[in-house]
Amino acid sequence: MKDIPNLFGSMVFNDAVMKSRLPKDIYNALKKTMLQGTHLELDVANVVANAMKDWAVEKGVTHFTHWFQPMTGITAEKHDSFIVPDGDGCAIMAFSGKALVKGEPDASSFPSGGLRATFEARGYTVWDITSYAFIKDGTLCIPTAFCSHSGEALDKKTPLLRSMEAIDKQALRVLRLFGDTDVKRVMSNVGPEQEYFLIDKEMFLKRPDLMYCGRTLFGARPPKGQELDDHYFGTLKPRVAAYMKELDEELWKLGVYAKTKHNEVAPAQHELAPVFTTANIATDHNQLAMELMKGVANRHGLACLLHEKPFAGVNGSGKHNNWSISTDTGVNLLEPGETPYENAQFLLFLVAVIKAVDDYQDLLRVSVASAGNDHRLGANEAPPAIVSMFLGDELTGILEALEAGAEYHNEKKLQMEIGVTVLPHFPKDTTDRNRTSPFAFTGNKFEFRMLGSAFSIAGPNIILNTVVAEVLRQFADELEGASDFNSDLASLIKETFRNHKRIIFNGNNYSDEWVAEAGRRGLSNLKTTVDALPAFVSPKSVELFARHHIFSEFELHSRFEILMEGYCKTLHIEALTMVDMVKGEIIPACISYQNELAELLERKKVCGEYDRSLEDHLLGNISKLSSCMLKKLTVLQNAIIESKEEKEILAHASFYRDKIFGAMSELRLVVDELETLVARKHWPLPTYAELLYSVV
Ligand code: ADP
Ligand code: MG
Repeated sequence: MKDIPNLFGSMVFNDAVMKSRLPKDIYNALKKTMLQGTHLELDVANVVANAMKDWAVEKGVTHFTHWFQPMTGITAEKHDSFIVPDGDGCAIMAFSGKALVKGEPDASSFPSGGLRATFEARGYTVWDITSYAFIKDGTLCIPTAFCSHSGEALDKKTPLLRSMEAIDKQALRVLRLFGDTDVKRVMSNVGPEQEYFLIDKEMFLKRPDLMYCGRTLFGARPPKGQELDDHYFGTLKPRVAAYMKELDEELWKLGVYAKTKHNEVAPAQHELAPVFTTANIATDHNQLAMELMKGVANRHGLACLLHEKPFAGVNGSGKHNNWSISTDTGVNLLEPGETPYENAQFLLFLVAVIKAVDDYQDLLRVSVASAGNDHRLGANEAPPAIVSMFLGDELTGILEALEAGAEYHNEKKLQMEIGVTVLPHFPKDTTDRNRTSPFAFTGNKFEFRMLGSAFSIAGPNIILNTVVAEVLRQFADELEGASDFNSDLASLIKETFRNHKRIIFNGNNYSDEWVAEAGRRGLSNLKTTVDALPAFVSPKSVELFARHHIFSEFELHSRFEILMEGYCKTLHIEALTMVDMVKGEIIPACISYQNELAELLERKKVCGEYDRSLEDHLLGNISKLSSCMLKKLTVLQNAIIESKEEKEILAHASFYRDKIFGAMSELRLVVDELETLVARKHWPLPTYAELLYSVV
């Protein structure tokens, strides 16, 4: 029996380790930097680095790396050993404060969206003191932010930290208005629920589409999909259970609070959820979780698929981003409080989020845009591309009453207090019934459900923190000048609700009626990544991000370009993979089976007057479909050639969305039909049934 509490965090240079290994003054200085963002002196860094090295070396570690999150969506690391020559042919193990605090990886090959031409100075990494160092695969990993020499953010962590600062600053202004002088810091917290597929590794290795693209580009539907709803929360199969057990333990060692695991809706689909923590650490931990999910799978003869849509016809995978804001005094600002006054504060934060989501629907949509996620959003398995909010009847009712009260009686203060005294009894579980909403209030947090499973959660949380910070700024500006705080507060809550209630929708988001209704309400419906991304660089967006120092206009444009290019490149690789599979595997399979049938027909003729209708029929159909396949293949190949023509970035991406994707879908249709006709022993690819059901 393992000692889990001792195992937990055993590979993390966490607070407890720091406390026990650092001299008191150094520990205090470091803590101050962590909590208050004060400058870290080099002599402090030197002591910390040395203690970190000793701790790591005791655990068999020989190397360290600055672990960072470039704009690829995954993490990067370059390992250096602690070895330092001592001058007489021997070596010592050393780690300096300078090496801990700052690194200069040659990172010219990461996407920078024009931010840093490859010939320019190298980027550098800076220690992010707010996230603990840890040991992974025998290497000491230092979480870092990654910037260019002129200070532009080249990663996802820097803007995330900036957005956390922005919401901290604005929320504090609001709290001060409520007379709160104790709170020193407001944090945004996230608990991401991660979905994934687990399939047999041998099957995986036989599918070039899964290997190159992470999703199947072909595959006829199996007789059984998810119709019976028998997988959701079903008993874990032994191989899956063994995998999950090891994954949990590996995550626990790294201090990740892996908590919940279960089977998901589609066959071979599962979910892992940790306990929530600060947005920054949650992001680091989610990246680690995704990496370990793949690594542990490999050791179990499995492959973990994090793509949003690995299989057509069954659900894809998403990530639910549970988000809240809380104070360093332990108060969740999205939790209805005990007193009317606390509840007024709760209502103000609540309507701030409502307004933020309404004002910046497009940006939230941008934050979940990718080629992979385009397969989900709007399909009947994930929220649609329309952003709306679920509050539940109870809370909507309270806000409506507040709004109406003002209109009917014009006794703002009284109505306000009546409204808020209702709240403490507000039953949490009535809020979590709607699984179709893209953005649901679930008792004391919001659950943003549009994220794709492969996403870094940094992007969506940068946007979420920033848009809420912006509304809190507006509120603070207004209320700081209030002549009568209580009555101005009451009107602000009412007005905000009135002006933004169009974003609230408690019904079925998957229905066609909602699409029509959302149109009438003037909500935006940006169906694909290409439709959504331009909003990222709109004047409104540039102003927002500049105001809060999250992205400069230059940084914003670089993200836009990287995302657009990422979209095109993804589709390009998928198209090339399709062509390659059709030419290299599918055509030869069709030929050999046709050959077998033709030979049989011939032989039957020679042998006598046998009935040949079956062979004849099959050969006829396969021949016809094969020539159809050739036509579709040619269309796709021509489109690929055309895609290379110089085009402006938006036109280029639109070409991929319309022409390449269209040609791919048509080719797939024919190939999937052929799969149902060609004898299984000739078909070169594992079938959907084999992929989805072979892990037992
Ligand atoms: P479900 O959404 O499946 O019903 P839960 O609501 O229990 O599950 O939790 C889902 C995730 O939300 C978990 O990661 C959990 O830690 C996280 N969570 C719970 N409370 C908060 C909060 N106040 N802020 C952010 N995340 C939270
Ligand atoms: Mg959930």
